[in-house]
Amino acid sequence: RKEKAKAERSPDRLRSPICCVLGHVDTGKTSLLDKIRRTNVQGGEAGGITQQIGATYFPMSRLRTQTDKINKDLLLDYKIPGLLVVDTPGHESFSNLRTRGSNLCDIAVLVVDIMHGLEPQTLESLQLLRRSKTPFVVALNKVDRIYGWEPHKFSPLRDTLAKQKSYSVSEFETRTRSTIAAFQEQGLNAALYYENDDFKRTVSLVPTSAITGEGIPDLLMLITQLTQQMMGHRIMFTPWVQCSVLEVKAIDGLGTTIDVCLTNGEIHEGDEIVVCGMNGAIVTTVRALLTPPPEREIRVKADYQRNKVVTAAMGIKISANDLEKAVAGTQLLVVHPDDEIEDLKAEVQRDLESIMGGFATD
Ligand code: GDP
Repeated sequence: RKEKAKAERSPDRLRSPICCVLGHVDTGKTSLLDKIRRTNVQGGEAGGITQQIGATYFPMSRLRTQTDKINKDLLLDYKIPGLLVVDTPGHESFSNLRTRGSNLCDIAVLVVDIMHGLEPQTLESLQLLRRSKTPFVVALNKVDRIYGWEPHKFSPLRDTLAKQKSYSVSEFETRTRSTIAAFQEQGLNAALYYENDDFKRTVSLVPTSAITGEGIPDLLMLITQLTQQMMGHRIMFTPWVQCSVLEVKAIDGLGTTIDVCLTNGEIHEGDEIVVCGMNGAIVTTVRALLTPPPEREIRVKADYQRNKVVTAAMGIKISANDLEKAVAGTQLLVVHPDDEIEDLKAEVQRDLESIMGGFATD
């Protein structure tokens, strides 16, 4: 199965990368996410951006409205179909996205407050990222708080920097230098992203403001560029489903549902699936593939939108029979016509052993 999935990959079709946001409390993780959502809405019609289970999906058409401001010089070919940003920032969601030792997060944004530098939870986040070998960029947030800073809404960083007074530029440079020195103390090379000539060995810093939107075009462009250029293989699309169960939840009117992260492939309504269960593997049929209602609608419980088909990467709520004993942190398989169901059942149950094994050794 894994071999087949590999064989059918092609560099011509990529899936959307999954991006997580980490950092010390109050550095602006939530505000940045909010701003990225609104930035895109501000660029034109609101359409396209969809809320997922625990994530927000930005289709490339929406990312373009921001990144084109920078890409006029870079002329990067856009190959990813979009970006799935996990929107419950924090250690916990990052850890939840680690199932079976593999990390669902393709790239992370570590948010650092430019006025405070590295703080205790920044260091904890750094450890998590290193341990899971997750590539990341640093958003050096709150640049608008630099003395005398004149905001230029949603401007690429270098454009706004060129318009600042010399004492603001000077403070910006001093603070950036001291953050770079602090990263060095942690054994990490860091550089402003536009001065970084070795993305493999040096972490990129992107100065941003979640209040003015400055630097957000740069951040989105960098994520696009890095995922396309540095992890092309990891994010190649394959029709073979890779999917993890994140949560098992009872929902009024729907019964027990599972929240999943579809990392690769495509799931259809009516697909037969195999899920790891406490008392043995569960074989069931996808009754509905659900995503949260469109943003402006009043949120009513169980008022989800149904999708006939969902393409990776995406967060989905799956409604099906017999999910009561499903186990979070395990993989979900879709049955193909020539599959031996017993093999698939054995495969999903192996995850249970590794989870239990994990508890025993923790
Ligand atoms: P989180 O704990 O990392 O999610 O941080 P929040 O997004 O809740 O932000 C913490 C506080 O910092 C809030 O009062 C925000 O309004 C403020 N804040 C966040 N980003 C910026 C920024 O770029 N500039 C300024 N001036 N304030 C910010």
